[in-house]
Amino acid sequence: MASTENTENGVKKIGILIEFENDKIKKANYGVITAARGAGHELYALVTDAEGVHCKAQLQAYGIQKIVLISLKKVSLEQNPVRQAKAIIKAMGHFGIYTLCGLTSPQGKDLLPRIAAAIDAPLVMDCLHVNFADGIAQKPQFSGKTIADIKVRGTHHIFGIRPNAIEAVSAPCRADVIPFEAHVDSKRLKIKEIKPGVSGTANLSEADIIISGGRAMRNTKNYKVLYDCAQVLNAAVGASRVAVDAGWVPHAMQVGQTGATVNPKLYIACGISGSVQHFAGMKTAGVIVAINIDPDANMMRNCDYGIVGDLFEIVPILTRHLMEIPEINQ
Ligand SMILES: Cc1cc2nc3c(=O)[nH]c(=O)nc-3n(C[C@H](O)[C@H](O)[C@H](O)COP(=O)(O)OP(=O)(O)OC[C@H]3O[C@@H](n4cnc5c(N)ncnc54)[C@H](O)[C@@H]3O)c2cc1C
Repeated sequence: MASTENTENGVKKIGILIEFENDKIKKANYGVITAARGAGHELYALVTDAEGVHCKAQLQAYGIQKIVLISLKKVSLEQNPVRQAKAIIKAMGHFGIYTLCGLTSPQGKDLLPRIAAAIDAPLVMDCLHVNFADGIAQKPQFSGKTIADIKVRGTHHIFGIRPNAIEAVSAPCRADVIPFEAHVDSKRLKIKEIKPGVSGTANLSEADIIISGGRAMRNTKNYKVLYDCAQVLNAAVGASRVAVDAGWVPHAMQVGQTGATVNPKLYIACGISGSVQHFAGMKTAGVIVAINIDPDANMMRNCDYGIVGDLFEIVPILTRHLMEIPEINQ
């Protein structure tokens, strides 16, 4: 896989790790594809999910030129990150791909570092923007207090992009579908059983709207008020760490420095004070609404719209009013 230029005859081949959920392509992939487009870039969708066979139309609508369907003989690639990482490395070598990008999602956090370590490539995760031509990524640091420009060196570059950080813009083209069979093993990791965890509602990182509850929720049962509102808004439900540590909701719902980093169009924080660690996970939301009894809470001072009052009174009223809006209930 040797190249000094990170390009082949002036063409930069960029591999994009495509993620699926419930047999459907995640829409956050389209932002990553949009970010990778550029003059002289050839975009390769690297697909390890069997559902990839059906995703040609969606991928070429966003500018993917080659769809590489990676498979293994006999064994399944899915669910085994060691096998997946090795197979992706083989595909990168085969197609002359020196730059790889994907989502900073649970799957991306598992696969991209494995690949970077195996090929000794620099890795930048949680990027808000990437200049692929110069190998410069922008990422938040110190819980989002500063944004760093990070320049990567070497021939291979790997970037994980924050879900929804880059708006997806379509750019239709024609894609070739290329089956690629990798011969890899996984002696160091054998998956014996997979027990799906209990997740709250829709995937947080994919959601356009999130309504979150913190310490003020007081118990698991009280989250119903948020679920009811979420159902009307087609939103996901999130939580602060206090609520997760208390066992009221699963960790999959935690937003913040040690939870999910989210980037919805609308974030509604209910009874959440707005610690620096919570903000680290949601400060890039398009619009932030806070509902809090304390007008001086940090979340109230740093939101777009603040509603002072008891969430258990306000959220049901909000839900009722939203239900009366025909556009929302179509
Ligand atoms: C290393 C580290 C990592 C961390 N990672 C995370 C993380 O990923 N995510 C995270 O969230 N935290 C994280 N924390 C914890 C963080 O510091 C805060 O303790 C936590 O975010 C506070 O949660 P909270 O806002 O729900 O609770 P509190 O700070 O107690 O705030 C509760 C708020 O609810 C309001 N309130 C009370 N009753 C009502 C009511 N009836 N209606 C409306 N408002 C009401 C109060 O006025 C208050 O503002 C981390 C901490 C550390 C040290």
